[in-house]
Amino acid sequence: MSVKFDISFAKSAKIDGGLAIQLKLAGDGPAAGAAEADPEGVVTRAAEIAKFSGKPMSTLDLIAPHGSPADRLVVLGLGKAEALTAYDWLKAGGVAASSVKSMTRVVIFADVPGLAVGGAQLAGFALGMLLRAYSFDTYKTKKGEDDENKAPKTVKVTIVTAEHAAAKKAFAESDAIAGGVLLARELVNLPPNVLGPVEFADRAKELEKLGVEVEILTEKEMKKLGMGALLGVAQGSVRPPRLAVMQWKGGKPKDAPVAFIGKGVVFDTGGISIKPGAGMEDMKGDMGGAAAVIGLMHTLAARKAKVNAVGILGLVENMPDGNAQRPGDIVTTMSGQTIEIINTDAEGRLVLADALYYCNDRFKPRFMINLATLTGAILVALGNLQAGLFSNDDTLAGQLSGVGDVTGERLWRMPLGKEYDKLIDSKFADMKNTGGRHAGSITAAQLLKRFVGETPWAHLDIAGTAMNSPSSEINQSWGSGYGVRLLDELVRAHYEVG
Ligand code: MN
Ligand code: ZN
Repeated sequence: MSVKFDISFAKSAKIDGGLAIQLKLAGDGPAAGAAEADPEGVVTRAAEIAKFSGKPMSTLDLIAPHGSPADRLVVLGLGKAEALTAYDWLKAGGVAASSVKSMTRVVIFADVPGLAVGGAQLAGFALGMLLRAYSFDTYKTKKGEDDENKAPKTVKVTIVTAEHAAAKKAFAESDAIAGGVLLARELVNLPPNVLGPVEFADRAKELEKLGVEVEILTEKEMKKLGMGALLGVAQGSVRPPRLAVMQWKGGKPKDAPVAFIGKGVVFDTGGISIKPGAGMEDMKGDMGGAAAVIGLMHTLAARKAKVNAVGILGLVENMPDGNAQRPGDIVTTMSGQTIEIINTDAEGRLVLADALYYCNDRFKPRFMINLATLTGAILVALGNLQAGLFSNDDTLAGQLSGVGDVTGERLWRMPLGKEYDKLIDSKFADMKNTGGRHAGSITAAQLLKRFVGETPWAHLDIAGTAMNSPSSEINQSWGSGYGVRLLDELVRAHYEVG
């Protein structure tokens, strides 16, 4: 990340050069902080000339505005007060961050006349700034001149509001959320030669600093547990697999945990059923589920969430090799159920089958949610605007859809059913690992369902949303960090005690 926003909240601030940002509703109403930032009222005239009406996320940018103590003045439109959502506040923060450019001091006036602005909205705005600031440029030895975030720098941001105390308090949580999202993005963006299963497990181990208990299971231990499906995927790679088990104990000791399980295929060649070459480099992102889970555990621990949570990462590499698994192989899972391998590129479900069963067996969780870049078919169905949601529990599915709308990390529920389940019956084993092209996302979910027992469970197919997603006000990076804010909000809204 090359820009660091050092954000504070204050009752007032003196502008002495730098950038001033005024928030404004749509229509004729005044912009926030007009007396300080724009004592001569030049914004009104400029807005008329530029036909700026305060539409959501639009900006009016004035250089050296007459009579203003600021070097630059940006008016940021919020649209209509009644239409403004929590997610809009994040987006507004993102737009504010993108307006900073070469400035190093920013004063933002947030008390919009005619709008009730509280701590939660301001913390959301600040979170949007932090999320927008991220860019993955670790391997760029020459930073582009036009790059929004070109030179490494710290930008001092003061958000002026009467609600400064409440905002400051709420912002501590935004900081924890940003930390989790940015961690997930970073891991998805990292090249696969740098981030193997062992290195990924090391990153999980680092959460111990935040008070998370972390165990790393090696190949030997997984063999002992009988994780034949996960190990079958890993056997073609010279890099050994790992299973990371993270526990955050912020709830009452006796409470069953909530559990999150991530597919962590650090690189997916397809194995012997090798993928076409074009676009294969994107398969470095096939660990987006595991990235979201580690990011979420970071966030829960950093904000000291009052919940017991388990995070499990199935970390493997899927490679073709003399020792790789073949189509036709039959593997025995930890559950005892057998799977015939039809296509070695349908590997994520094999990893998750053992990870889900292990999680359920050991922790008896309240629910299990797994995240996985599982199928290309989910892109065919939903594009990259929503993730696929599959669940055996209407309550959990409803909660997830609800927080999806709040956070802007949206979900569309897909069907499950006996008729679909039949499609993965095998002639030679209990099931086969693909059900063919049709309903490809659904049959993948049906396989997972066979490993979760009666526990409330949801599978989020994030193949379209975790990587290569369209850039937005709050994300310009290839890896989006999808799922961290969604699941943090799920925990916050429905599963924290007291
Ligand atoms: Mn695959
Ligand atoms: Zn995969």
